[in-house]
Amino acid sequence: MTKGAEIAARLDLAGAGLEDTDVRLDEPMARHTTNRLGGPADVFVRPGTERDLAVLLARAHGTGVPVTFVGSGTNLLVRDGGIRGLVVNLGRMRRVERPDPDGRPGHVFAEAGASTGRVLARCRSWGLSGVEFLAGVPGSMGGGVVMNAGTFLGEFRDVVTRVTSLTLDGRRVVRPAAACGFRYRGSDLPPDEVVVSMDLDLAPADTATIDAAVERLRSHRRAREPQGVPNNGSTFKNPPGDHAGRLIEAAGLKGLRVGGAVVSPVHANWLVVDPDAGRPCTATDMIALIERVRDEVAARFGVTLELEVRVLGED
Ligand SMILES: Cc1cc2nc3c(=O)[nH]c(=O)nc-3n(C[C@H](O)[C@H](O)[C@H](O)COP(=O)(O)OP(=O)(O)OC[C@H]3O[C@@H](n4cnc5c(N)ncnc54)[C@H](O)[C@@H]3O)c2cc1C
Repeated sequence: MTKGAEIAARLDLAGAGLEDTDVRLDEPMARHTTNRLGGPADVFVRPGTERDLAVLLARAHGTGVPVTFVGSGTNLLVRDGGIRGLVVNLGRMRRVERPDPDGRPGHVFAEAGASTGRVLARCRSWGLSGVEFLAGVPGSMGGGVVMNAGTFLGEFRDVVTRVTSLTLDGRRVVRPAAACGFRYRGSDLPPDEVVVSMDLDLAPADTATIDAAVERLRSHRRAREPQGVPNNGSTFKNPPGDHAGRLIEAAGLKGLRVGGAVVSPVHANWLVVDPDAGRPCTATDMIALIERVRDEVAARFGVTLELEVRVLGED
């Protein structure tokens, strides 16, 4: 019996009465991460309804099976041994609505599985400004709010008014933005709750103004960031008053390689997968490269770089 089959049996998924959930056993996480790295999730589920999500969480809670929530995997580094237990992705719960266009024209509701690109496109079509920064942030709204992702145009905390989550025992928690503990590339949203939706407050604007901001961000990025190689965007957070990329470059580490993982010659804070390395890159290569970079920067400048990328799973 595979680990996936064992966990599915423990959760009694066959008897759970799931209505609309995509279930995969021993699913390679490399299929669900933008760096294309990561071993198997025992059971990977994509519920299509909140009811199914609640059933899955209750089963995991009742049986002690560990649960991990993932978004689009744009900020994940999953170790080669994969993730034990249940991995939940809300990519099929992706409504984006404007509940009250006449009374509260700037109010937008988005489910956690909606992609940032879709939210940006919908808001543009409604003539609402405030989420142009999403043009630089791939992934889901759920992952984005947990990370308080952003760019020089803004970040989630600028537009989110409240976040709705489910706890493992099925309680619905609605937090105003002030209770989410947003900070630079992080939040205090508890890791054992799944974000299901959020409300945003945006401002009316004409489409040309929105498009100009988006284009400015896109061209800024095109000129500075590696293209066409699997990656997670920035690997480290910027330390206070400085840039991780500047420190890594100043330490002479551009192009440094461990196996198939390399410090991008284009942007030093992007540790990327080299598809032409001669052998496939592993998460172990990437973690070894992260450690080399962190040690060298600490030795040279006395600054300990903190990871922005979230490492999950086991070796
Ligand atoms: C090319 C590229 C460029 C990038 N540029 C930027 C940038 O400019 N600015 C920036 O901030 N980031 C950037 N990133 C990183 C990434 O886009 C963001 O961190 C993004 O918000 C992560 O969203 P995700 O859905 O992929 O989440 P994931 O990477 O899947 O998960 C991120 C974290 O959120 C948690 N999580 C995800 N969904 C839920 C949920 N529904 N409930 C509870 N927890 C959840 C996960 O457990 C994990 O801890 C970039 C990444 C890439 C690949």
